[in-house]
Amino acid sequence: MSTLDQNISRAMGYIAERAKAGCMNHIAGASVPAVSGETFATRSPVDLTTLSSVAAGDAEDIDRAALTAKAAFKTWSKTPGAERRKILIKVAEAIEARADEIALTECMDTGQALRFMSKAALRGAANFRYFADQAPTAEDGAVTRTPTQMNTTSRRPIGPVGVITPWNTPFMLSTWKIAPAIAAGCTVVHKPAELSPLTAKLLVEIAEEAGLPPGVLNVVNGMGETAGKALTEHPALKAIAFVGESATGSHIMRQGAATLKRVHFELGGKNPVILFDDANIDQAVDAATFMIYSLNGERCTSSSRLLVQDTIYEEVCARVAEAAGRIKVGHPLDPETVVGPLIDPGHEAKVRSYFDIAKSEGATIAVGGTKVGETGCYVAPTLFTGANNAMKIGQEEIFGPVLTAIPFQDEAEALEIANDTDYGLAAYLWTNDLNRAVRMTDALEAGMMWINSENTRHLPTPFGGVKSSGIGRDGGDWSFDFYMETVNVSFPRAPHKTPKLGG
Ligand code: NAD
Repeated sequence: MSTLDQNISRAMGYIAERAKAGCMNHIAGASVPAVSGETFATRSPVDLTTLSSVAAGDAEDIDRAALTAKAAFKTWSKTPGAERRKILIKVAEAIEARADEIALTECMDTGQALRFMSKAALRGAANFRYFADQAPTAEDGAVTRTPTQMNTTSRRPIGPVGVITPWNTPFMLSTWKIAPAIAAGCTVVHKPAELSPLTAKLLVEIAEEAGLPPGVLNVVNGMGETAGKALTEHPALKAIAFVGESATGSHIMRQGAATLKRVHFELGGKNPVILFDDANIDQAVDAATFMIYSLNGERCTSSSRLLVQDTIYEEVCARVAEAAGRIKVGHPLDPETVVGPLIDPGHEAKVRSYFDIAKSEGATIAVGGTKVGETGCYVAPTLFTGANNAMKIGQEEIFGPVLTAIPFQDEAEALEIANDTDYGLAAYLWTNDLNRAVRMTDALEAGMMWINSENTRHLPTPFGGVKSSGIGRDGGDWSFDFYMETVNVSFPRAPHKTPKLGG
């Protein structure tokens, strides 16, 4: 049996076992169907076969989950940080022990290639470990003193919160939001993306088997417009952490207004790689190719605009096109595959629509621009050349393995093009001129920048975007600031005179 066949057999074994009961909601430690009894199917983008039925939650299910999270908050928020740490470390260990099942399930549900997803499960465990270690000191604050007054500032968990996640790397992204929330002492209702719900249920089961008390993490599946909307409107939930499209972020802000929800948004991007002719071109080409064609290009920090100095534009485009043409498109469980199928036929149609848009706008499809195969949602890694930034292919988030290459003359033009977008998530800059790097990073409108590097993550650093790419930062202590309220208590240090009114 080939490695691919073995992987398919193991993946389908895991999924079939779990599909017997269906992918239920998970509330107060129990697997439960939707109150309405309604279900929907999650289909694999590999061949559009149904993997499992999924509970179709709505406002009633959200209400039950939110009230459960509210009740569990009373105990969990008072559980000492050191105790929460111990439990979260056990969750991390349990994720590592089930990494194979998580990765194979995720690949079949999302179409992401195993070579990237096997690490995503481990990164999920790393998120739990990292935030577990911060739990014992999360409440700590500062003491500030004047001759007459002593102020003690500390933090306390904000309350039960809602977490809404997208479909591109669902397991890793869920842990990135849920781990700091429960480390901080919050309880959670999680609404996973309807297109890739399987690993969210796996996560809550793993966490509870590892010792997370029932009700601390609850999962309600369902559509964004029903379950998601109800989550953002529920009065018991104090904050919403959301990862997804910018337009959905606007809806959530409106929906949460009546209950004054605190919101944290990680949204879309149209991230530039800016390549000057003094840079290490070999490495820059590899990095740009990696950042757009890994994870199917369905990645918020993907390098979807390649801005190249005109002196090397032709050469760089030729090299990226050659590399893209050699990338293996195939079954996500084939260890050789780089690009798997896109999440579903609707998204595939959206990505492919940009092939026609590029042609009608006068750009050239240097490589790709086609569907691959008869079944499944496969598209070829694509490079648009001869493009400019005013084109839709320069402005809109395509969220697939599709790169738009735009030439620039000098530093001023590079900066102007880079910032000429509604988005501001990430930017990648390639130059060996230190002064230029300082000037550029001072002026680039992006929440995260990498110099002479692809995206490498370090969990204590802030993650998030400016402009339409988001509100707030994750990572390090920033995550705790979101999930906690800062309170100040003032004590008199010496007898003092209180103003006396009315006499
Ligand atoms: P999406 O916004 O369509 O959906 C995300 C989630 O929101 C899903 O769970 C969906 O059911 C829910 N939702 C939809 N409408 C809702 C509503 N009215 N109220 C409440 N919830 C609602 O996004 P997607 O298509 O699943 O994911 C792709 C997007 O996510 C891309 O734009 C990508 O850039 C972005 N993303 C951003 C980051 C980041 O860190 N900045 C990371 C990953 C993905």
